[in-house]
Amino acid sequence: MWTSVAKSLLKFKVQHNFAKTLLRCTSRQVPPGPSLSWRRWQHTAGAIQEAHPFTINTIIQRVEALDAKRFICIQWEDGSKSFYPFVWLRDNCQCPNCFLDSAKARKLTFDDLDVNTGVKNVAIANTGKICITWPDGHTSEFDAGWLKKRCFSEQSRAQMQEELTHPECQLWGSDLQMPTMSYQDVLTSDAHAFQWLTTLKKVGIVLLDGAPTSQGELVTLGKRIGFLRLTFYGYTWQVKDKIDANNVAYTSGKLSLHTDYPALQYPPGVQFLHCLRQAETGGESEVIDGFHACSQLRKQNPEAFHILSSTSVDFNDIGVDYCDFALQSKQNIIELDDNRHVLRINFNNATRDSVFDIPIEKVHSFYSALKEFVNLVNRPENTFCYKMKPGDY
Ligand SMILES: [Zn+2]
Repeated sequence: MWTSVAKSLLKFKVQHNFAKTLLRCTSRQVPPGPSLSWRRWQHTAGAIQEAHPFTINTIIQRVEALDAKRFICIQWEDGSKSFYPFVWLRDNCQCPNCFLDSAKARKLTFDDLDVNTGVKNVAIANTGKICITWPDGHTSEFDAGWLKKRCFSEQSRAQMQEELTHPECQLWGSDLQMPTMSYQDVLTSDAHAFQWLTTLKKVGIVLLDGAPTSQGELVTLGKRIGFLRLTFYGYTWQVKDKIDANNVAYTSGKLSLHTDYPALQYPPGVQFLHCLRQAETGGESEVIDGFHACSQLRKQNPEAFHILSSTSVDFNDIGVDYCDFALQSKQNIIELDDNRHVLRINFNNATRDSVFDIPIEKVHSFYSALKEFVNLVNRPENTFCYKMKPGDY
């Protein structure tokens, strides 16, 4: 079970919500250069299927079509009811004509979907499944557990989202007890990899120790859960002092707290830093929990929070590295989801563009709001400081 759950989570590759931690490195952590021999992390369709066991032991007592509302009503053994729109059921028919099981994907096209469909007949089959006959004679069968998990009630939807996205979030400050795991354990044990990823999702940062100090290990960790994403700085890059640096990270000066690469339309979710060699002096890393700072700003100055979560800010990054590049993006510094929860922070003062596409009368209040946010971010009680050792991630 551990294995299948871990593999299922690994499959999702911790898909979002990840620009939680703002990072500042004072200098000279040296991650490895590119070393590309890809061997993708293996999983099987069987493992995925096993990890989604839609086999809740659920018994349907009664089923009826409510034609006026275009709902099917299911009454469960415990007396509770679930409702399913006709169109949703037809759209999600699981038969081989409508659904490609090997790809877990819909074959039915929208062209062939009658959004106003009625239902000719609905019944409970001997197998315990719901059997629907549609007006054109097509039939669909739905497993009771599959339906139960997809019930449209608020509670069921929340439960499903919890299962899919692991939304638990732990806010922290300077008192962070840095979650620390063994690099080798994460590489060799699915249970440890699962714990690593769920902790990363919850806290935003995990230290892995005991990795070799050779270049290329970062690629090994990347392919443990999927693949590294190619950027205009390559698959991996060396953070060290460079002459005529094409990025402020390649200087020995202190960086302000930032998230990486907001100039990309799709900024990175998780970033790996691998310390190969540590500076004799300096070299400390400072991290802060951006979600915590957002929560503080929301309480302290709701108007500033509103400005930063509703103003599109221009970012750019121009230079030559892996190839010539000229990136331009618009990001809200505080990005919210549909429920107005913080989804991501997009902020790098170095690449915030001088081009600013907002009405002139809004400029000053934007700067005031950002100043307040940065002041919160820089509070000593919000900052966790540590120094990586060679072999740390
Ligand atoms: Zn079908």
